Amino acid sequence: MADVLLSKVRKNYNPATLKDTLRNINLDIKDGDFIVFVGPSGCGKSTLLRMIAGLEDITSGDLTIGGKRMNDVPPSERNIGMVFQSYALYPHMTVFENMAFGLKLKHMDKETIRQRVVHAADILGLEPFLERKPKALSGGQRQRVAIGRCIVQQPSVFLFDEPLSNLDAALRVKMRLEIAKLHRDINATIIYVTHDQVEAMTLADKICVLSPLKASAESNLEQFGTPLELYNHPVNQFVAGFIGSPKMNFLNGEITEIGDKECKVKLTSGEIITAKVNASRGEVGQKVQLGVRPEHLVAADSPKADGGKISGKVIVTENLGAEFFLYMEAPACDEGVDFTVKHEFAIDIKAGETYSVGIPASACHLFDAEGLAFPRTEVYTRG
Ligand code: ADP
Repeated sequence: MADVLLSKVRKNYNPATLKDTLRNINLDIKDGDFIVFVGPSGCGKSTLLRMIAGLEDITSGDLTIGGKRMNDVPPSERNIGMVFQSYALYPHMTVFENMAFGLKLKHMDKETIRQRVVHAADILGLEPFLERKPKALSGGQRQRVAIGRCIVQQPSVFLFDEPLSNLDAALRVKMRLEIAKLHRDINATIIYVTHDQVEAMTLADKICVLSPLKASAESNLEQFGTPLELYNHPVNQFVAGFIGSPKMNFLNGEITEIGDKECKVKLTSGEIITAKVNASRGEVGQKVQLGVRPEHLVAADSPKADGGKISGKVIVTENLGAEFFLYMEAPACDEGVDFTVKHEFAIDIKAGETYSVGIPASACHLFDAEGLAFPRTEVYTRG
């Protein structure tokens, strides 16, 4: 097992265009950590993973694994195991042979190979299938064989590139739990790419959020932190909008009052909302976006609605039994963007009617015109 260190890593596929894909990526990944790279499609997640694996050159910057600089070390000598979205199993070989193949290539002795394969099969629950060919396995079982093929190599770092995206929804949840269990059992350093932020939130010790690189930006690493740091203290509006499902709501307004522990924001729709945010670096009259997560909204008459309330016309309601969703037109939202409410209780209301919803002051996030967050002074707990 090993630490992985990225320092000022940059990737440019085509220097002639001068356009970088990744810039100034600094990550300190500790031995045994489960790290997830998330971000919208095309932001460079796979590129970053492939650079760690040695399948892509690093344009500039340093990559260190276990204390050794790896930039110029070939993939086969990096002691890394990679699991891809496509399982790429050999169809004519049994599960045992598929898992043993890489070790045979290394001329390992038969008994060591057998022990490693049996051990991996035990961890992954594959013993009953060792003599089967891939075509006689389900998608989830095939993916487990692909993971097993990696485990037998005893790599110091596991790299997973969207390993569950070929599986159906139910199997994804099952495999997600299995991967979490695998990490607990073998305590390996794992770097995992996904665009599914529920996978990111549930699996990761730390999440690295990437965005498509803007020409003038210093870096496209938006934030690197624990799932709850990202959920409770997103550093900017990009991370706030990316982490959390359903997405955070954003309301346009301007600061009207700045205190030590809270500030007041007048929404473009006229309501005044109190936010438990330190806006001392801002100024009265400054344009801001107020963020509030759908699951933190409360009934308008609740004592928790100490931040204020907003009203809007209901567009659609969804009652899922355990959760109730309401989508409404809030005039302070950007044009064409609905305001989403998630309650644990159902409301008897129809499309076209007006609904008022309460906002706890400690549930508010605040972002300046550049999208940078003001620090929160309190974090709302639903309890
Ligand atoms: P993600 O995994 O986040 O979807 P990728 O790492 O696959 O993103 O791609 C990031 C960007 O780099 C994309 O704009 C993609 O078109 C570009 N890219 C990826 N591979 C290559 C390549 N071999 N040559 C040129 N551009 C590439």
